[in-house]
Amino acid sequence: MAETQIEWTDATWNPVAGCTIVSAGCTNCYAMEMARRLQAMDVEKYKGLTRRSGKRTIWNGVVREDRNALDIPLRWKKPKKIFVNSMSDLFHERVSDAFILKVWNVMRATPHHHYQILTKRPDRMGSLVAKKISDVLPNVWLGTSIENSEVSDRANHLRTIPAAIRFISFEPLIGSVGAMDLTGIHWAIVGGESGRSARPVREVWIDEIFDQCSLQGAAFFFKQWGTWGKDNKRRSKKANGRVYRDQVWDQMPDARLTL
Ligand code: SF4
Repeated sequence: MAETQIEWTDATWNPVAGCTIVSAGCTNCYAMEMARRLQAMDVEKYKGLTRRSGKRTIWNGVVREDRNALDIPLRWKKPKKIFVNSMSDLFHERVSDAFILKVWNVMRATPHHHYQILTKRPDRMGSLVAKKISDVLPNVWLGTSIENSEVSDRANHLRTIPAAIRFISFEPLIGSVGAMDLTGIHWAIVGGESGRSARPVREVWIDEIFDQCSLQGAAFFFKQWGTWGKDNKRRSKKANGRVYRDQVWDQMPDARLTL
């Protein structure tokens, strides 16, 4: 619920805290480590969400709905692109349908913002939207994360969900995603992993996504190389930068959205 360094959004809003690992893309989950740090700083909302496992911090399975966070976007008068739940997954099985509907009501009540919801559980997102949400909000973008070909089926769930914008985050890209059907997908974000335990990204995997976006008409946003550069050498994320094919790719799904 704050300004953010994430290149494709303006602010984060976290009505839920806590999660559990679902696939290989979660292994170095930034939110797990951040939750540990926030607990150490005595932030109540993030207490008791993680445990130590060897030298690592991992989620302990507690997922917390934060009713007090629900009205935060109502207080933001200036329009923003808002990433919903950078510290969790809104469609985690322990988040109640009733609470998700409350989040939807906030988004409905604040049409001056654009909301970006990213999940690794698009099957639940699809069934909940189908059963309990009758309208397509023009300010809500629905997305899923795909880190390699093992989870590329998430795109098939996503494309069936009615939404103003559907997007895929290919980050952290840790393997080839192979042939992707991008029918009904408006936007792709691509990025390598960063941090101490980052797994390398390969340029050929990025090329594969770039070419498929070009052919199938999806906007392409290159977020970062991460810890491993184009030359497969390890450096800081900042040093590796955001240049791919000699330019920065900041395409958004609709050119009219200039928030
Ligand atoms: S789904 Fe997202 S928040 Fe949850 S463990 Fe995986 S990366 Fe972290």
